[in-house]
Amino acid sequence: RHLPYFYPGQAMRGFGRGSKQLGMPTANFPEQVIDNLPADISTGIYYGWASAGSGDVHKMVVGIGWNPYYKNTKKSMETHIMHTFKEDFYGEILNVAIVDYLRPEKNYDSLESLISAIQEHLKIKEDNFFQVSK
Ligand code: ADP
Ligand code: MG
Repeated sequence: RHLPYFYPGQAMRGFGRGSKQLGMPTANFPEQVIDNLPADISTGIYYGWASAGSGDVHKMVVGIGWNPYYKNTKKSMETHIMHTFKEDFYGEILNVAIVDYLRPEKNYDSLESLISAIQEHLKIKEDNFFQVSK
């Protein structure tokens, strides 16, 4: 069992926790796929490549971890593809190639602190560093 791991699975409807409002939609895998992850896989954030349906392959990040809403008995696996899709792809096959590990999961005290963490990261893209004169 070596990286990369290849996982196909149908994009399932999640709990609608508002990840789209955060600007970070995360496509959910069916439970069977998660149950077939290596039992000893480290929880955290991984990166790699993904496609939805018959679409192109894009960069992606996937979080594998314990979903507190399942009372810590069910792992979740949620993929954010770094591409702006014209339409949702619920029901279509999501193909994910996990290339390597990025970091462990982080916990946040509140939804507000999670949102501000995302915003802080997005701001770096607009940093003065990149404001070269044209
Ligand atoms: P849910 O709770 O149903 O997972 P999300 O707000 O996390 O809701 O949205 C996930 C859904 O958004 C995916 O199943 C997919 O159909 C769609 N989607 C659109 N763009 C993306 C993207 N770039 N990455 C992942 N999912 C996306
Ligand atoms: Mg989601």
